[in-house]
Amino acid sequence: FNQVFHNKCDISTESFRILIIDDSKTLTDYYSLILNQAGMIAKAITNPMQLLDEIREFQPDLLLMDIYMPECTGLELAAVLRQEKNYTKIPIIFLSTEEDTNKKLFAISLGGDDFLTKPVSPQHLISAIRSRVKRANVLNYYMVTDSLTGLLNHSSVLKQLEIEIARALQKNLSLSVIMADIDFFKKINDEYGHPAGDKVIKQLANLFLVYLRGQDVVGRYGGEEFILILPGTNVTNAEKICNDLRLQFSQYTFKEREKQFSVTFSSGISFLKHKEEAVHLIKEADDALYLAKQQGRNQVVVFEK
Ligand code: GH3
Ligand code: MG
Ligand code: MG
Repeated sequence: FNQVFHNKCDISTESFRILIIDDSKTLTDYYSLILNQAGMIAKAITNPMQLLDEIREFQPDLLLMDIYMPECTGLELAAVLRQEKNYTKIPIIFLSTEEDTNKKLFAISLGGDDFLTKPVSPQHLISAIRSRVKRANVLNYYMVTDSLTGLLNHSSVLKQLEIEIARALQKNLSLSVIMADIDFFKKINDEYGHPAGDKVIKQLANLFLVYLRGQDVVGRYGGEEFILILPGTNVTNAEKICNDLRLQFSQYTFKEREKQFSVTFSSGISFLKHKEEAVHLIKEADDALYLAKQQGRNQVVVFEK
C-alpha cells in the first residue's frame, strides 16, 4: 500500500467521530463517557429530527443509533439517511432491547451495519465501533481511489470539486482547477510497452502528491489525464505552480529497455469567477488544455473567454 492509503486509512491514532442518537439523555451521557474515555470524539443528540443537520456539521465516522425513539424510529431514520447520496456509506450501529430480535433482520436489510442489544458492555461497544469504522474506511478507500496511482478516481475528484467550489464561495476564496494530460503518451506505450507507460503515470502522480499542499486535491480523471484542485490559489499562482511542475517533470529521465527518455505534459487552467458548476470549470480547463496541445504541447494555458 502506498502513502495515500496510510494517510487515509491508518487512523488508529486518530480519533473516530461518533454521533449518538438516543432519546434518553442518561444513555447518551453514558455512551459519550465510554467513547470519550476510549479516545473517540462523541456527540449526542436526543432529537432524531436534528440528525441530517448534525451529520453535516459534525461529519461523523459512525452513527450509534437507538432503535426506539418517540418521534421516529432508528430504522426510519436509517432509511431516510440511505436515500441521501452523500450519506449512504456512514456505518450505523443500532442499539436495541432484547425483545426486538425479530426486527433485527429488518434493520440489517435496511443497510444498518450492526446491531447491539442493550445493555451493552463498554468493551463490546468500543470494539464494535472500532471494527465498523475501520472496515468502512477500507471499503471507502477502494471506492474513491484509483488503484494504479492511489489518487482520487474520476467520480470522487468530481465530487470533491463540488465540495471545494461550495467552500470557496462560502469563504470567498480563490479556487483554481488544472487539467493535465501527458503528451504523446500513446507513443510511450508503443515504444516502451504498457508497463513503462504505467510507470510514467505513477511518476507524475507522485510528483503531484509530493509537490502540492495538504489542502490541494489530485485526481486521475482518465488514462493519462489528471485534475488538480487548488483551493485558495488564484490563477496567477496556479499558472506558476503548474509551470514548475511541468519543468520538473520534463527533466525527469525514465529508463526502459536500456533506453532513456523523458516525457512532458500539457495543462489547461480554469478558475472560479462567479458560481460556476464543477462540470463547467472542468470544461474550461479542458478547452485550455486543448489549446495547449494545439500550440505545441509541454505548456500551460489559462482559459480565457
Ligand atoms: P496527446 O499528446 O494529444 O495527449 O496524445 P496522447 O498519445 O497522449 O493521447 P491519446 O489520447 O491519443 O492516447 C492516450 C493513450 O493512453 C491511449 C491509451 O492506450 C493510453 N492509456 C490509457 N490509460 C492507460 C494506462 O493506465 N496505462 C497505460 N500504460 N496506458 C494508458
Ligand atoms: Mg495525452
Ligand atoms: Mg488524453
